[in-house]
Amino acid sequence: MTRKTSSGQLELRGIGKRYGKVHAVDDVSIQIAPGEFLTMLGASGSGKTTTLKVIAGFVEPDSGEVLLHDRAITQLPAHRRNIGVVFQNYALFPHLTAEENIAFPLQVRGVAKTARRARVAEALTTVRLEGMGDRYPRQLSGGQQQRVALARAIVFKPQVLLMDEPMGALDKKLREALQLEIMRIHRELGITICYVTHDQEEALVMSDRIAIYDEGRIRQIGTAEELYERPESVHVAQFMGESNTFHGILEGNGGVSRLVAQDHQPIVVSGDAGLGNGASAAVVVRPERMRVTRDGPAEIPRLDSGHNVLTGIVQDVIYLGSGRRYLVELPDGSLRQARVGAADADPDIGRGDRVRLSWHCADAILLAAEAPARQVAS
Ligand code: ADP
Ligand code: MG
Repeated sequence: MTRKTSSGQLELRGIGKRYGKVHAVDDVSIQIAPGEFLTMLGASGSGKTTTLKVIAGFVEPDSGEVLLHDRAITQLPAHRRNIGVVFQNYALFPHLTAEENIAFPLQVRGVAKTARRARVAEALTTVRLEGMGDRYPRQLSGGQQQRVALARAIVFKPQVLLMDEPMGALDKKLREALQLEIMRIHRELGITICYVTHDQEEALVMSDRIAIYDEGRIRQIGTAEELYERPESVHVAQFMGESNTFHGILEGNGGVSRLVAQDHQPIVVSGDAGLGNGASAAVVVRPERMRVTRDGPAEIPRLDSGHNVLTGIVQDVIYLGSGRRYLVELPDGSLRQARVGAADADPDIGRGDRVRLSWHCADAILLAAEAPARQVAS
């Protein structure tokens, strides 16, 4: 039976770390609740690993504090922080068996031999590697090695577990299996987990909350639903899921406004998101919020009804089983996408057809304009 570890309440206050001119981490503050699974999600180079290293005690920040249960631990050496760490490359000692690898942190902490043996056995059971304790890393698969690394990170019953792209080196199937294992261990141990990935899907599946990183800063923290439904920036909207983004100048105040641009007809939006008349703005419409109908004699609704209708030519239709995904080229040459559920999709619409893309203004997200988001490196 696995004993519950006490879970840590972790806080970062104004953490900053520079390397030369690069702000690897720039004024990051987060509060992580006991037992929470928080994921840091962002493009490569956005400062995720540096943040984890600051929490673990491998990197000293230039500014800010790390607090565990309201106590500053910024000056404590790594091995005295009671924080477990798993990295992408398993970092196991090749000349030690799985058991010896797992026992290592206990040895460092001066745990007696008999207690050590019991703890190692318990950790092996937790990661489901019973009977494999006497194997060397080279005799284990990648997924098994990563389980040993996980066992080694939890064997001393840390209050917080840090994981930096732990699945990065595994293939898709192993990744999914290990995802489930990590989620089970999180539940069983009740441990606080701080997890790093650049894989949006992984973040969605595993996390209680997600922190979106961008150039050393956190752009937004929230549940997957909050980030998807109520992104506070175009960057977050484009990073979480797929989106159609229209840029323009906002006209009108309050109730209903219009986004006006040279390359597309005015787009009606509800409210003005506090941006005001004349602001440079962006409207984000999720593909599943767009309807696709064949263009024809049916009258196009007036803009003041709140319905937007753009006509374009279908470039591609992808059959998804659950529905269809349409790529539609608008007169300005932009490609837009719509995802329509099986019940509403017209199976006769195909490549080359002229269609109407429509959505109601209440289904779109109005945001301040900003430079396009960087692509995620994988
Ligand atoms: P991520 O984990 O999100 O990919 P990192 O935290 O590894 O990002 O890196 C953030 C930035 O800091 C990058 O520009 C990276 O090149 C830089 N950086 C990280 N570690 C070092 C280091 N030891 N020396 C110099 N630059 C570094
Ligand atoms: Mg990294």
